[in-house]
Amino acid sequence: MLIDTHSHLNFKEFDKDRDEVIKRAFENGVGKIINVGTNLRGSQDSIVLAEKHENIYAAISLHPINIEKEKFDEKAWLELAGHQKVVAIGETGFDFYHSSDREKQKEIFKELIKIACQVKKPLIIHSREADQKTLDILNHSESPFSRGVIHCFDRDYTVAKKFLDLGFLISYTGNITYNKENASSISKVPLDKMMVETDCPFLAPVPFRGKRNEPLYVKYVAQKIAEIKNISFEEVAEKTTQNAKKLFGLK
Ligand SMILES: [Zn+2]
Repeated sequence: MLIDTHSHLNFKEFDKDRDEVIKRAFENGVGKIINVGTNLRGSQDSIVLAEKHENIYAAISLHPINIEKEKFDEKAWLELAGHQKVVAIGETGFDFYHSSDREKQKEIFKELIKIACQVKKPLIIHSREADQKTLDILNHSESPFSRGVIHCFDRDYTVAKKFLDLGFLISYTGNITYNKENASSISKVPLDKMMVETDCPFLAPVPFRGKRNEPLYVKYVAQKIAEIKNISFEEVAEKTTQNAKKLFGLK
């Protein structure tokens, strides 16, 4: 069994066949899915999806690329964060690839860390072209926050090591099948510190690169890790599933 620890099944790309996509995953080796909302509406939708499916869980966030599109309503977010099927706060962090206001990104990142502390749930971190800034915040937040995952990791091991040292897990997605650089940390990151995800509808792994991604394809990510680490697919599946269950408190 695999756990897709980062999907966006609430996105419009799945409006036509959401139920079939979910069924296909659950009938073919995906045991659980963490669905990540990236704005208030999307986070509410994510919770609705999690209420409908026993093995779907929700994460809630105002993504750094969405911070200028809505006002951050602390009370509303805190209320969602307390929901029993919400297992993480995020994805939050920095995105310097997109041009939204960096100070504002920092402000929202800190707000969401505060909420994660209040509800005692782990963080899902989005860090794009911003690792040092992300590390600074995680290191220097008033109570250093050390429970969570760096999602969509495609940097080298020196960067991975800094996040591992803080206590974070590393999660890999389909882009590790695109080229060697994206996968360069995998041989050194310990299996008990990693998870797998799709980030669907984005980043479909080879052989579906360029097409819509879906939770079923998380197996190609696990396969690539097995190949690089020269271990069995089953071992990768078992370990990454264990890691995800532990981090998100799943049964
Ligand atoms: Zn995402």
